[in-house]
Amino acid sequence: MNTPKELMISRYEAFVKMDWQYLVDTSLHQTLNDLENHHPIEWLKLDIIDNYENIVEFKAYFRQDKKLGLLHEKSSFVKVNDSWKYDDGELFNSKIERNESCPCGSGQKFKKCCA
Ligand SMILES: [Zn+2]
Repeated sequence: MNTPKELMISRYEAFVKMDWQYLVDTSLHQTLNDLENHHPIEWLKLDIIDNYENIVEFKAYFRQDKKLGLLHEKSSFVKVNDSWKYDDGELFNSKIERNESCPCGSGQKFKKCCA
């Protein structure tokens, strides 16, 4: 992967597919054990919010136990032997805005849909 943003997107896709080995291979600290014990989540949508230098800020929307949720993270990446790896993430306590279009893809506002 040439850029942290491309790596971020490919790692999101790996989370969707539960490709744990790929996630281990593209991070510095994550282990198969950590990832396999993750509570299963249905990922709905990824929005990249900001991207500069080795930082990618994103919002990833998911459904868990029939409720929609949001992971808002500022991830940092490091280059190791010419390839980017996920290093660490700073989490934000953000909520899905009532007026944003619903992450489930219905085209309706969140407040009128899955809220
Ligand atoms: Zn919805």
